[in-house]
Amino acid sequence: MTGERLIYVIHKHKATRLHYDFRLQVRGVLVSWAVPKGPSLSTKDKRLAVRVDDHDLSYAGFEGRIAAGNYGAGSVIVWDNGTWRPIGEPAPEAQLKAGKLKFTVYGKKLAGEWTLLKMRGNDKNWLLIKAKDKYVSDGDITQLRPESVISGRTLEEIESDSRASVIDCSGDSFS
Ligand code: MN
Repeated sequence: MTGERLIYVIHKHKATRLHYDFRLQVRGVLVSWAVPKGPSLSTKDKRLAVRVDDHDLSYAGFEGRIAAGNYGAGSVIVWDNGTWRPIGEPAPEAQLKAGKLKFTVYGKKLAGEWTLLKMRGNDKNWLLIKAKDKYVSDGDITQLRPESVISGRTLEEIESDSRASVIDCSGDSFS
């Protein structure tokens, strides 16, 4: 596993409610969590991360609009991307099954060590927590860096751009 470049991406997604979709490649899919408040670089914050459907790897670079009538209809930007690597044993699938995944992120906005921790009593609720390292910060990264890392554009700019990419696959879920 060491040295393998696994996809990491966060989509900022304005659907019914604004949220950040935190996605990590595990084997052939993007395992995904919807984080309502987005990530925090402070170790004091434990951000709710609700497990949602896995997505295809091909979705990692999508930025544009999800047409009305699709689940998740609204606009999407690639808020951060890069690679990630699990920390320690066992393999990430087993760590996920056990409810605790420790990993390192190599992104443009997020970096360093993180933990995803499954909450008791609910299958879908996890917490996304920054681990203590040199990348910790009290600044609110979602406010400081609202823009897309691939286009420099904001969600609002994508929303009002009639030429933005559109996906329309009724029946599929783009949560
Ligand atoms: Mn979403």
